Amino acid sequence: VTNLPVQADSGRLSLPAVLVHGGAGTFDRIHDTRDIEWLSEGLRNALAAGWRALAAGGTALDGAVEAVAALEDSGRFNAGRGSVPTSDGGFEFDASVMDGATGMVGAVCAATWPANPIRVARDVATVGGVPDGPLLLAGAGADRFAEARGWPRMTPEMLAGARAFGGQEIGLGGTDQRGPGGGHERPESSTAGTVGAVAVDTNGNVAAATSTGGRSGQMPGRVGDAPIPGAGVWAAADRVAISATGAGEAFIVAGYSHLVDWRLQQGASLAEAVAGALEAVAALGGDGGSIAVTPAGSFTASFNSRAMARGWRDAEGEVTRLFPV
Ligand code: ASP
Repeated sequence: VTNLPVQADSGRLSLPAVLVHGGAGTFDRIHDTRDIEWLSEGLRNALAAGWRALAAGGTALDGAVEAVAALEDSGRFNAGRGSVPTSDGGFEFDASVMDGATGMVGAVCAATWPANPIRVARDVATVGGVPDGPLLLAGAGADRFAEARGWPRMTPEMLAGARAFGGQEIGLGGTDQRGPGGGHERPESSTAGTVGAVAVDTNGNVAAATSTGGRSGQMPGRVGDAPIPGAGVWAAADRVAISATGAGEAFIVAGYSHLVDWRLQQGASLAEAVAGALEAVAALGGDGGSIAVTPAGSFTASFNSRAMARGWRDAEGEVTRLFPV
């Protein structure tokens, strides 16, 4: 755990806009510009997927879900096909969505079935949510739901295929996905990783989506903040959408996303609200970061880890970054 100052990219985007993250961590296994470009391309592809949905008139939730699905499919981050294994070599997926305009909210955790956990989380939101539920489906129940609803299955080949594709260990997702000739052994454990997106549509509605394979080498059944509304995902109409990454236990105990929203309601700026919530995470010994956007297009991508893969796109263009600037 680092004790670094909060780094923040903040600004104002035109509507619609989408932001993504590819996890917070040390990035101590990023070796060269090729590695950086490989991850940056993964972020850009996700921004393009989210942007396509928004430009086609989709909702903020469409934009966030399509961006996260692209990150899951890329195999380059710790979610979906790129997920890191648990201590017994299994794979368990956590994913969540929340929509500000409608209050739709749904999640899965410790799921093993879905090829795209984020789509199943959205489906849970569609059939459940508050107040009657279900809001969060776990393990075998999540898998049965995904199967019954006809969602494609994650096969061992898809997980292995992502690794053979030519990726790499990046010190955030924990997977050594470098393919033949890449020259890296898959490490036993790593620091962090997760993907997420927040979006704001032309109507100023905001939504968030988060997906993760969890912590590398985590105990089977361990679940972090990613599928927990108010912790790793949050969207409140007229205020903010947030997707977080980092030391999940600390984000849960801090009530991270709720804390950001509460500070906003107390009059803090978005950057101040996020920095204060990250301090609460740091006080618990955790680190990480988040992306957040308001209905007016104000955003902040902030972290107190060494690095966080992040990017944003609006009609004016796109930016992707891994390290502090
Ligand atoms: N927050 C995720 C978890 O605790 C992991 C991460 O973001 O790196 O499961």
